[in-house]
Amino acid sequence: MGTNLVEIENQYTSGVYGKRPVEIVRGQGALLWDAEGRRYIDCMAGHGVANIGHGRTEIAAALAAQAQRLTTCPEVVYNDVRARLLERLAQVTPEGLNNFFLCNSGTEAVEGAFKFARLVTGRTGIIATLRGFHGRSMGALSATWEKHYREPFAPLIPDVSHIRYNDLNAAANAITEDTAAVIIELVQAEGGVHVAQEEYVQGLAALCRERGALLIIDEIQTGFGRTGTLFACEQYGVQPAILCLAKSLAGGVPMGAVCLGTRVMESGHISKGSHGSTFGGNPLACAAALATLEILEHEELANRAAALGAHAQQRLRSMQSPLVREVRGRGLLIGIELTKRVQPYLEALCERGVLALPAGANVLRLLPPLVIDQTQLDEALDIVQEVLRGSSRPVQPPTGTNSLLDAPMPDVGLLVSILNIASLSRQESTLAHFLVEQAQQMGLYAYVDEVGNFVASTHPEPTDQPAVVLLGHMDTVPGNIPVRIEGDLLYGRGAVDAKGPLAAFICATARVAKQIKAANVQPIVVVGAVEEEAATSRGARGIVGRYQPSACIIGEPSSSRAVTIGYKGRLLIDGCVTQQSSHSAGPARSSNEVAVAYWERVRRHAEEWNQQHAGSSAFAALQPSLRSIQSTHDGLEERTSFTIGYRLPPAFELSALREQLQRWAYEDDLHIQFSGEEVAYQTTRTIPLARAFIAAIRSTGVQPAFKHKTGTSDMNVVGPHWGQNIVAYGPGDSSLDHTPNEHISLTEYTHAIDVLEHVLHTLAAQRETAL
Ligand SMILES: *Cc1c(COP(=O)(O)O)cnc(C)c1O
Repeated sequence: MGTNLVEIENQYTSGVYGKRPVEIVRGQGALLWDAEGRRYIDCMAGHGVANIGHGRTEIAAALAAQAQRLTTCPEVVYNDVRARLLERLAQVTPEGLNNFFLCNSGTEAVEGAFKFARLVTGRTGIIATLRGFHGRSMGALSATWEKHYREPFAPLIPDVSHIRYNDLNAAANAITEDTAAVIIELVQAEGGVHVAQEEYVQGLAALCRERGALLIIDEIQTGFGRTGTLFACEQYGVQPAILCLAKSLAGGVPMGAVCLGTRVMESGHISKGSHGSTFGGNPLACAAALATLEILEHEELANRAAALGAHAQQRLRSMQSPLVREVRGRGLLIGIELTKRVQPYLEALCERGVLALPAGANVLRLLPPLVIDQTQLDEALDIVQEVLRGSSRPVQPPTGTNSLLDAPMPDVGLLVSILNIASLSRQESTLAHFLVEQAQQMGLYAYVDEVGNFVASTHPEPTDQPAVVLLGHMDTVPGNIPVRIEGDLLYGRGAVDAKGPLAAFICATARVAKQIKAANVQPIVVVGAVEEEAATSRGARGIVGRYQPSACIIGEPSSSRAVTIGYKGRLLIDGCVTQQSSHSAGPARSSNEVAVAYWERVRRHAEEWNQQHAGSSAFAALQPSLRSIQSTHDGLEERTSFTIGYRLPPAFELSALREQLQRWAYEDDLHIQFSGEEVAYQTTRTIPLARAFIAAIRSTGVQPAFKHKTGTSDMNVVGPHWGQNIVAYGPGDSSLDHTPNEHISLTEYTHAIDVLEHVLHTLAAQRETAL
């Protein structure tokens, strides 16, 4: 645990925050991860900041692009991005609000609103409501109701009073010709999730109009889709004179806005210099806000909040618990009023992987990002129900339990977590250490070996018994793909090639480990190798001597219903031609022409060989490809280098091919070098492991299939050393490997774990009867 960082923060922080003992380091959508890799469902959304979810690449991209162009630009000069945002705000905010003062937080928006109200009306009185929350600077704090926020700082600004919420008579008695403004929230969020009644808000607007006061609506928390419409005002049919916005406005970047209606603008009292802000309207925040508004609209997040909010409230209302007094809210701003203090329940939720908020002393507030998917929301609601159901005390989970294991879909959680950790070849170390922590929490023995491989086992190592080895790999090809779940599909680099199969191995092994008596069975070892995608295969080479497996499953996508029993071999050739520059019209061939002619020979030779030997079978064919070619020319010398890769059929006579390639190279004065040489590897359908897979796949009601792959894998590396009882298996469609569209079906992923669990049980039982 990052205790060290916790201590550092405790030592140097101001001390004004009560903190929970979690160190959040990463987020994606509605999920957060702590420093130990534990996953949390976020029902705080940064107090309402993260409506569009965490880790949005659109925001990162908008910020990066803008940061390179211009980050700061005070409003005393014009700016392109600010102009576009102002125009956009006028389009999306409720009618009649067409001018904006841009600032940096909700508190500042409220401060600004008060200043504008006094300036415009020439009056001083400000009326706020009981349980209202509007911020904590001296002005905004004056309108905040909660005593313990206010009292230590008295005296606050004069002429601010509080009236009962949802009580029109109280308002009628309080609003006078000294009243500059009345400020309300449409759902009091911090104050306990109390929803304003429609007649109240409309009556208040009418009273303000009659008596010359301004109605200020604080939508800092309710804005940007939270309550089921872009702004809650839309549901009340009122036009405030001033609307305060912040929190979600710029998708996580600090920004606030005071939206000014015609009453304010046409008063003629807004004079130059009457208000201002150094950071206000800076291009960086404006760019983030534009990107955020685009996402909100494009993903229809307000509708999503309405639908998911209705679902969640319905589920919570139907919950039977003496602990629950009332469920209230709008959209995804939900309050559960308890008969007891909420704090211990928040802690119990946190321990079970749900981060939620209080709203006053005894209201539990759920404020998830609006992008939360229904499975995640239901998972959070299940946990909320578990924690609240019937018990008068919070359920204390045994210490040391892991939410990844307790959650209904822990297997998916593991895969999502590791997709979020980049692991190019030779950069697998972060992932390896993360996997070690996860595997240990799942009950396995785990460590990182001397070449950097992740190793997890049902038994402590080293072991001299024969083992079942599940050999996957950790590295992926380059090309970031944002991790996201769309329906049943999980997108991310490595979802198919590497991480899907590897995560399935770990989950199945952990399940089996819980059910077997270790003494009776041979060890099951999962290896996440390094450098499979690189020609070096250093990870697999590092373990060939360490184990004598009785069976080996290679982690490569075959689909959950098929088993791969053969991989072709591989030979890589790096070639290079260098010669003095010649005039392009001259008789000599250029280095490019020499290289291309060489490739043509290789191609024709393979064509002829295949006609004689391969028939129509791609697996039996010799398949060369020109993987890269580039040339340089500096006026003195020209140089062409290229790489040719062969896919080799089984039992191919490699030395003859190598001689032939050398001879052609010699004839054309071209240098070649061989690398990445693997022979093809093929096993049969009748090996015990293949039979175990057939039975396991059948037992799930699916017809099994066999595959031969035209590529190579670590099977080629370990096959020659480890014998015939080897297959490759893993969920995923291998045609998505190395593509920008890489994704895996979660149903298939879970199916593969079930199949693997079945296979591992069979292997364990074989051993038990053999003994
Ligand atoms: C959060 C909040 C504020 C204060 O915003 P900050 O950005 O924290 O200054 C004001 N009003 C409401 C309704 C809020 O929820």
